[in-house]
Amino acid sequence: MNRTTTQETSFSYKNFTATIEGFDENYKTDINQDSYFGFPVETIFDIERSLLSRKEKSVAYFSMEFGIAPSIYNSFLLTHPMSEQNQFYSHEVFSNYWLCDYLFRVNTDKMLDIPIYGGGLGVLAGDAIKSSADLGCSVTGIGILWNKGYFKQNFWYKHGQVPEELTWDPSTYPGLVPLENIVTIETKEGPLHLRLWKYYVYSYDRSHACPIILLDSNLEKNPPSFRKLTDQLYRSDDVWWKIFQRLILGVGGVKALESLGYDIDRYHLNEGHAAFALAEKYISLNNKDEFAKCQEQFAYTCHTPVAAGHDRFSIHDITRVLNDDYVQAACTLGKESENSDQINLTYMCLNNCQKVNAVAIKHGEITRLQFPNFAPKIRSITNGVHMHTWLSESFRGLFDRYKSTLGDWRKNPENLKKVNELKSDAQFRSDIFSAHQVNKKGLVETLARWGLKEDVLTIGWARRIAGYKRPALIFHKVEQLLKIAYEVGPLQVVLAGKAHPNDDIGSAHIEEILDHIDQLNDHRKVIKVLILENYDTYFGKLLTNSVDVWLNNPLPPFEASGTSGMKAIMNGVVQVSTLDGWVVEAVNDDIGWIFGYQHSGSEIGQEMDLRLDKDSSELYAVLREVTKLYYQTNREGTVDVQSPWIDKMIHCVGRSAFFNTQRMMQEYIKEMWQM
Ligand SMILES: *Cc1c(COP(=O)(O)O)cnc(C)c1O
Repeated sequence: MNRTTTQETSFSYKNFTATIEGFDENYKTDINQDSYFGFPVETIFDIERSLLSRKEKSVAYFSMEFGIAPSIYNSFLLTHPMSEQNQFYSHEVFSNYWLCDYLFRVNTDKMLDIPIYGGGLGVLAGDAIKSSADLGCSVTGIGILWNKGYFKQNFWYKHGQVPEELTWDPSTYPGLVPLENIVTIETKEGPLHLRLWKYYVYSYDRSHACPIILLDSNLEKNPPSFRKLTDQLYRSDDVWWKIFQRLILGVGGVKALESLGYDIDRYHLNEGHAAFALAEKYISLNNKDEFAKCQEQFAYTCHTPVAAGHDRFSIHDITRVLNDDYVQAACTLGKESENSDQINLTYMCLNNCQKVNAVAIKHGEITRLQFPNFAPKIRSITNGVHMHTWLSESFRGLFDRYKSTLGDWRKNPENLKKVNELKSDAQFRSDIFSAHQVNKKGLVETLARWGLKEDVLTIGWARRIAGYKRPALIFHKVEQLLKIAYEVGPLQVVLAGKAHPNDDIGSAHIEEILDHIDQLNDHRKVIKVLILENYDTYFGKLLTNSVDVWLNNPLPPFEASGTSGMKAIMNGVVQVSTLDGWVVEAVNDDIGWIFGYQHSGSEIGQEMDLRLDKDSSELYAVLREVTKLYYQTNREGTVDVQSPWIDKMIHCVGRSAFFNTQRMMQEYIKEMWQM
C-alpha cells in the first residue's frame, strides 16, 4: 500500500489554504509554498493526493485520543507568539526529601504536548500514526479536539488527587489548523455541528506525513450544551456525555472523511468508542444487503479485559438522544443478545468488523475467553512503541557508533536484535552502561532539587492509576522495602500517574502513596521516593529513558499489553514485572526479573482480588536480588562490565527490535487491512 504520486487527482497549495479559516491573517507566515510550520510542504500534497485518489488504498484510523508528543517529536516552528497556556506546565513533586510540596516547572523550551490523550491508548494511537508516516502509508487519523484536554492533576496530602480543569489554546498551537469544513449530525436535541481541524504527523525523516482530523463541537452555532461536548476527554458524569462523545467520534468521523472527499478503503476502530461509524455506514445504505461489503472494510482493535473498558448503553438512554435511524441501526448492529435492552459497543464492533485483534498474544487468549462466540475471528497483534519518539539521544549515538553491526537501524528497527552479537564486546558493554548513565544524569539534573544520585539504584513506576495496575504494591509492606534499603543498598523510587477524575478508588491509591512517602521521612538517607504530578509523555520519556529498573506490576491477566516497558527496554532499562501482557512474549529473553501471581486456565478471575500480600512479598524478594546485583555492577561509579546486569540490558535492547509500532503497523497492513 505504499503511495505513488498520482497526478489524476489534484491537490495543491491553493486548495489547501482555501479550506483554512482566516488563513490570510493567521497562517500565511506559517504555511506557504515551501513550508508548513518549518516542515516540507510537498509531503502534504503527496498524502492528500493519495487520500483523495480512488486508486490508492487508504485507511482511516479512529481513536478517542491521540498522544502525539510533539514536544519530543518533530516540533513545528511558529512565527507568531503562542499562547502562554501552551508553553509551560507546572508539576509539583511530593517526596520524602522535601517535606512540603515544591512547584516544579518542566525545564524545557518546548511546548506543551497537545493535550488530547489520557494514557496508553492515546499514546499507542499517536505512535501508530507516526509509524504509518514512517512507512509511507496512506493513513489518516480521526479523533476529537479536546478543548480542555483530559485534566490537570493536583496532589493534596491527606486527600489524594484533586482534578482541575486544564486550559490550552488550539488556535495558536503550531501545526494545528482549523478547516472551513463543518459536518452536522442530526439528534433529538437538534443539529450538532462539528468543525474539522487538521494536524500533520511527519515521518522521522520528514519524507512522508499523515494527517489527523480532529472534530470540535465548540462552535457558536451550537447551543451551549453542545459546545461543551468536546471539552473533556472521557467525561463520564452522565451517560448523556458518553453517548454524545461516541456519536461525535464515530458518526462525525465518517462524515468528516466524506466532507474532505477522502476515498477510504479501510476503517480501523481503535477501541469500541468509534463503533457508531458502523451505524453511520449502515444508515447510508438504501439496500441493507450491501452492508456485508461494508463490514469487510472494518477492522477493530480491542484493548482491555477490564469490564469498565467496554461501553454499554441502555436502549432507553440511546433513544433519548439519538435520532430514530441511529437507534434502529444500533439495535440491529450492537445488542448484547437478541432480547437484551443494552447496546454494547464492543459487541457492535465484534459483530460487524470483519477483522478483530487483541493487543498481545496473552490478551488474545483472554479476549477469546471473554467473547467465546467471536473466538475464531479474534487474532493477536502485539502492541509496540514508536522508536524515534522513545529512544534517547544517548542510545541513538550508541547505535550509530556500532552501525557496522546494527546497519540502518533508523529505517529498520528490527536490526536492533543484532545487539546480541555485541554481547561479548567489552567496549560495547562499557558503552551501553555509559549511555544509560548519561540518561540517568539527565534525570538527576532535571530533578536536581531532590538530590537524586547517579549511582543509586533507581526504580520507576509510571502509568495510569488503576486498581489492577497496583500502583502502591511496592509500599504494601514498607518495612520490607526499608530492610532492603538498609541491608543491601540505598534506593530511589520515582512514580507518576493520573487516575480518572471520577475514579475514587484511583484517587485513594494516590492518597495511599502520599501517606507511604510521608512515613518514609525519617529514612531519606537510604530511600528517596518522589511522585510527580501530571504524568504525560514528557515524563513518560524522561522516566522510561533513565531509571535503572522499570517496575510493571499489574494483576494478571488484566494488563492487555502495556507499552511503557517497551519504551524502557529500547533504552536498556531492565524490567521487574509480573507475567502479563507483552512481557509474556519477552520472558524467555532474560530482560530482567519476573515475579508474582501467574494466570492460567479458562477463568479470567477477579479484578477486585488484588493479591497484594503474596505478590508484594515476592516483589521484595526479587528487589533484594536486583539491588544486590545492581551494587555489584555499579560500585559508586566503578562498573563491572562483565556483570549479568549488562547482559540483561543488551537483551532488552535486542528484544525492542520486535516491540515497536513499525512492526505492529506492518502486521496491521497485512493481516487487518490486507493491503
Ligand atoms: C506509555 C505511556 C502510557 C502507557 O503506560 P502503560 O505501562 O502501558 O500503562 C501511559 N501514559 C503515558 C503518558 C505514556 O507515555
